[in-house]
Amino acid sequence: MQLIMLGPPGAGKGTQAKLLSDRYNIPQVSTGDILRKAVAEGTKLGLEAKSHMDSGGLVPDKLVIDIIRDRLADADCANGFILDGFPRTRAQAEGLHEQLQALGKDIDLVIDISVELDDLVSRLTGRRSCKDCGEVYHLTYSPPSKEDICDKCGGSLYLRDDDKEETIKRRFAVYKEQSAQLKGYYQDLGAFFQISGNGAIDDIFEAIVKEIESISNK
Ligand code: AMP
Repeated sequence: MQLIMLGPPGAGKGTQAKLLSDRYNIPQVSTGDILRKAVAEGTKLGLEAKSHMDSGGLVPDKLVIDIIRDRLADADCANGFILDGFPRTRAQAEGLHEQLQALGKDIDLVIDISVELDDLVSRLTGRRSCKDCGEVYHLTYSPPSKEDICDKCGGSLYLRDDDKEETIKRRFAVYKEQSAQLKGYYQDLGAFFQISGNGAIDDIFEAIVKEIESISNK
């Protein structure tokens, strides 16, 4: 099963993708995570991506399309995957479409999680990520047991540069600009499910699962 999560940064795509990954036993593929790892490791890709990421802009299409081509060729993607943070532009959606055609696969469902800017600012400025394992916390909604320490691995927690308020506003504007086209593209292809991200994590998850089950039964 091939799923795409759409929605502005901070809508809860990653959280839902992780839950769906556990439920359906297919990997979550996040271009943001792959890029952050490349930046942390100082690879050529990381060096090329860093300035775009720090400013809240998008990394060039070609770079992310190549990342996805390599990642989807991995054995764990054979039975499907959940794309989180990709595609973000029409060119990326078309690049993905070509790759899937070559693999004889199709997108089963696009899940669009919508949230407004004010809600995003409060969500993202409270977000803390682990430097070592990438686990994500929220100071209000899912705080770690010990301040600034990861429950999972003991690593230290930090506020991502791109989760600062000015950058969030820029990322949201970038998202709004690009997403209209992207949504139109997937709405035309069918299998498009929109849900508000302003609810309890479990309720949103159950609604998404219900939609997936309904298309699987068709
Ligand atoms: P995310 O964790 O998905 O919010 O991604 C963090 C940053 O990585 C974004 O603000 C972009 O600079 C970059 N990025 C991640 N995915 C993509 C993509 N599909 N296209 C372009 N840039 C991306």
